[in-house]
Order: sequence, then structure tokens, then C-alpha cells
Amino acid sequence: MTQAQTHPDAEFVSHAPGFWEGEEIADWDDPRWQLKNRVTSLAGLERHLSLSEEERSGVLLSGNKLAMSVTPHFFNLVHPEDPECPIRRQVIPRIEETLTDPAEMADPCAEDSHMPVPGLVHRYPDRVLFLVTDRCAAYCRYCTRSRVVSGAGEQELEVDFEEAFRYLERTTGVRDVLLSGGDPLLLSDARLEKILARLHAIPHIEFIRIGSRIPIFLPQRITPELCEMLRKYHPLFLSVHANHPRELTVEVRDALGRLADAGVPMGNQSVLLRGVNDDVDTMRTLVHKLLRCRVRPYYLYQCDLIEGSAHLRTPVSKGVEIIEGLRGHTTGYAIPQFIIDAPGGGGKVPVNPEYVVERDGGQIVVRNYEGKRFAYPEAGAVDPAVR
Ligand SMILES: *Cc1c(COP(=O)(O)O)cnc(C)c1O
Repeated sequence: MTQAQTHPDAEFVSHAPGFWEGEEIADWDDPRWQLKNRVTSLAGLERHLSLSEEERSGVLLSGNKLAMSVTPHFFNLVHPEDPECPIRRQVIPRIEETLTDPAEMADPCAEDSHMPVPGLVHRYPDRVLFLVTDRCAAYCRYCTRSRVVSGAGEQELEVDFEEAFRYLERTTGVRDVLLSGGDPLLLSDARLEKILARLHAIPHIEFIRIGSRIPIFLPQRITPELCEMLRKYHPLFLSVHANHPRELTVEVRDALGRLADAGVPMGNQSVLLRGVNDDVDTMRTLVHKLLRCRVRPYYLYQCDLIEGSAHLRTPVSKGVEIIEGLRGHTTGYAIPQFIIDAPGGGGKVPVNPEYVVERDGGQIVVRNYEGKRFAYPEAGAVDPAVR
């Protein structure tokens, strides 16, 4: 038995029983049924779960900031009796969301002030973030873009598609476009293909990627037809978002497999969340399962300073501890880069454990994952003639 197999959620389990509210559902695998039957109200939640006081008031009071919505597929992962269930904390509002800590912001990464065109965030010289929709299949309570997604808040996501395409056509320094939102895979195949085709036709755009949690929230949406369409626009990468190993079900693994078979390289972006994935054992299990789904862990984010997220944030040292608990102990491919997206718009900054113990003129002393020390003589420190 490896360590990973000791985690209760280390194996892939099917969560498509086809039952919902006590009835057998013939359309369970139909993404339209899943979307139509999302849980969006207190009454809907309480048909399935008994809520804590914190959740019940959270559902009643937080709805004017970020809507609640959970697909039946994802909802089936919630543990019905465990109030601390890591799935529950991600999608069911809690009263703490209505509290704002002085350090928190509505737009923590200052995206709105880095938009040359509505909907296009151009922060780095060679790549842009293109927000193509304000809707998701389900809403993450710690969403960094809660100010504009879901349609519940006052601010609307404005996107000027034609202006954005023209900006990208004339801005020849942009070689990488990241589609996000909202969730781009919530658009119809035809609508998404229009966007991809237009970008693909721009000669200096070498690389397109899509950020989506649909493979996790709504794996039924990853149809063979969608995969056939996507493969026309290579090189096309996809970043998914899984936080806890239980999210990787049989249905999710199969959906990711269809994307991988269509030649779409995939990375995973997790957010470090208190009570969800803030321990080495859970993260190790998650990254091992991701590799088995042909998804490379890409980033582990320190939770952004989004308003009402204090109850989900951890100290930064927790992320460093997790990376330290993985590096050397397991497959290098399994280890994400831990990132702080700098508040105020500084962009993504890596935060790493310290492996350099000493640095003096002639040598660098490093420690390995077991804590053993090794000296490496610096190049050029010793005159080759006298060596
Ligand atoms: C995250 C992000 C990107 C992509 O960053 P990578 O490190 O290349 O994945 C690009 N633009 C913005 C505004 C971003 O937030």
C-alpha cells in the first residue's frame, strides 16, 4: 500500500447513480438536464441536506453578491452528514461571506484597471486573459471574479468582442491568449468555435488556452463533438480547476480522457482553501489522481484577497509546507508551483520553500527533501589553472 491509497478519496468512484430527489433520472448524462436541475435555492438545498446555521444564513444573505448554483453531478459529491465536507465549503455559501476583512477587495488582482478593451486583461507583455462569458456551471464561493460573474452583483462583465479581436490583431506582441470568464466551455460549441477560429487566424497568436472548471462541475459537457471541434485549433491547452481528490470521479476521469485523446494538454490550477485541501495528504492524493487523469498539476494558488473569503484562507506558510511535503517525496510532474497573485495587480509570483542553506563566494550549500546538506562549488570560483 502506498501512502496515497490511505486517503479515503484516493480511488475513482462513480457519482452518476442516475438518482435525484429519490427518482431515477434517464437524462442524468445530458448536460442540459444537469444545467436545468442545478441547485440554486435554499429550498433546493434543503431537499437534499440539512444545513448548519452558518450555511442557512449564508444562503439567505450572500445571494446579492455571488449567486449559488451547483450541478447535480457536483452536488452528489457532498457528504450529506459532514458539515465540514470539503465539497460543501467550495459551493455552499456561509455567513462568513458577508464579513469583509480590511485587507479584502472586490477586484483583488486589479483586473479592471488592466483592460485596454472591455473583457481583455493585458498584464504581461506576451499574453492576455480574455473574459468571454460571465457565467459558470457552478459558482466557487472564493471566486476572484465574483464582482462580475453569476449576474447577481451590481457590476456587469462588459466584453466588446469585435474591439478585442481588433486589439489582438494589431498587438503583435501577444502570442498567447487565455480564454476564461466565467467558464468558456459553457458557451455552445458554435459560439466557442467562432472565438477560437478568429484567434487561430491571427498569425502572431501561437498558442490558445482555455481555463475551465466544466470538466469537474459538468463532465457531461465534454462531448465527443466538443473534443472534435477543439482539436482543430491546436496548439490548444486547457487548465482545469480541481481542489480535492473526491472531485476526480469516474465521470470526470473519462471526460478528461476524451480531452487528452483529442490532443489537448491539460494543467490543473488549485486554490489552497482552509478545510478543503490544506494538508499534504489531501494534496498528494489530488496530484496523484490528476496524473492518472493525464492532467499535470500547474499552479497552487494562495487564495486571493476577495471580499468575504477570510474563512477559506490559510497562512501562506501552509502552501510552502505542502510544496515541501511533495518535492522529492513524489513525482516531479505531480508538483504544482505555489503562487501568490500579487494584490493590486502585480501578477503571479512564485513562493517556494528555501532549499539553499548557505551561499558564500565559492560554493552553495543546499538541502534535499530529507534535510541532508550538500555543497556545490560555484562555476568560476576556482581558477581552472590551479585546479
Ligand atoms: C494568470 C494570468 C495569465 C496567465 O499566466 P501564466 O503564468 O502564463 O499561466 C495571463 N494574464 C493574466 C491577467 C493572468 O491573470
